[in-house]
Amino acid sequence: MILKTLFKDSTTTDTTPFSPDEFNAHVMNTYGRFPLALERGEGCRLWDTDGREYLDFVAGIATCTLGHAHPALIDTVTRQIKTLHHVSNLYYVPPQGELAQWLTAHSCADKVFFCNSGAEANEGAIKLARKYAHDKLNIADPVIITAHSSFHGRTLATITATGQPKYQKGFSPLVPGFAYAPYNDITALEATIAELDSNERRVSAIMLEALQGEGGVRPGDLAYFQRIREICTEKGILLILDEVQVGMGRSGKLWGYENLGIEPDIFTSAKGLGGGIPIGAMLCKSFCDVFEPGNHASTFGGNPFACAVALCVCQTVEQQNLLENVQQRGEQLRSQLQSIATQYPNLIVDVRGWGLINGLELNAEAELTSIEIVKAAMEEGLLLVPAGPKVVRFVPPLIVSEAEVNQAVQMLKTALSKLLESK
Ligand SMILES: *Cc1c(COP(=O)(O)O)cnc(C)c1O
Repeated sequence: MILKTLFKDSTTTDTTPFSPDEFNAHVMNTYGRFPLALERGEGCRLWDTDGREYLDFVAGIATCTLGHAHPALIDTVTRQIKTLHHVSNLYYVPPQGELAQWLTAHSCADKVFFCNSGAEANEGAIKLARKYAHDKLNIADPVIITAHSSFHGRTLATITATGQPKYQKGFSPLVPGFAYAPYNDITALEATIAELDSNERRVSAIMLEALQGEGGVRPGDLAYFQRIREICTEKGILLILDEVQVGMGRSGKLWGYENLGIEPDIFTSAKGLGGGIPIGAMLCKSFCDVFEPGNHASTFGGNPFACAVALCVCQTVEQQNLLENVQQRGEQLRSQLQSIATQYPNLIVDVRGWGLINGLELNAEAELTSIEIVKAAMEEGLLLVPAGPKVVRFVPPLIVSEAEVNQAVQMLKTALSKLLESK
């Protein structure tokens, strides 16, 4: 593989190749990268620097909502960069107001704070919950409960919120004020609250994913979330949902919580919101909107460029009825994955998900890992992403077609049979 730079005059074929070693000499080694450099995309397809085509069931990890080079996105990006791309929140930013209006009209939230990523949105939610605890509940030392196997980002507060020691290792001291309970286990959660209470550590918020993404594509249990909503309301605890991965239509509903029949007090969005242009949002109901000027800020947050693009993504999802496509393609994908699972009962133990966020769980006893399957699928021209060592994740663009789902499943079948033959 060669990595061609695209900084040269694009009208010539003179691109200077450089190697992965040269790349690694200058870029910090924070990712285990596949030996693949992608150069171009269109719809659900990508081409690497050698011109090889791939079907993209990663979508920048649940981010490229409208796929690649979508005409509506190209129009908006072009129009907005020519008009105004960045000013400051010292001034009113009309596209920010329009996006906030769309988001609040299409969710349970009343107010929005804009930022640039999922971690930053969750930081904002954590800060808002703490301020609410201080201002409204008079708790000096508030605690936020999160779930085991959760993922909330890579800043210090969000790795602390993340209930997976592997993300925290080497970064102590962590941020105080967090406690953990197993996901989808209401008895354990109630016990955790009771134990904190008895030690005079008061819980001010519970922060969860409606469906755990990185933690293995685990959908939230209806009864669990409904009981949590009751507990939060009874005790005056804020319910924060991290919708960074499952939100913005990916679950077949606009927001993950709609699958659970509840409403959060605060929720966050990022990944799919800008369709691949960085933007994050932290949304809340009026009663917990305790921020005042000077409490929280972000230089790039809500700039005209990112907001115009996100609004285009939102409107396209709505106007093109993409939620219906997400539901139908999701059912198609799950039923086809289920038939692969039936074919390999010793290897695959579960197929699960909502809409177009789906996981295939491998037998813990089986020799195969998710990364081996991802690599084998890549050989066949299908891009997939692991969600932990035993779950393969499928998160294509929301515009994926019936034929593309069929093709992806076919590629996966070929990859699996070759992989098992070689074992
Ligand atoms: C990806 C993710 C984050 C972190 O988002 P970044 O944009 O990488 O900071 C937070 N929460 C969930 C649920 C995610 O999937």
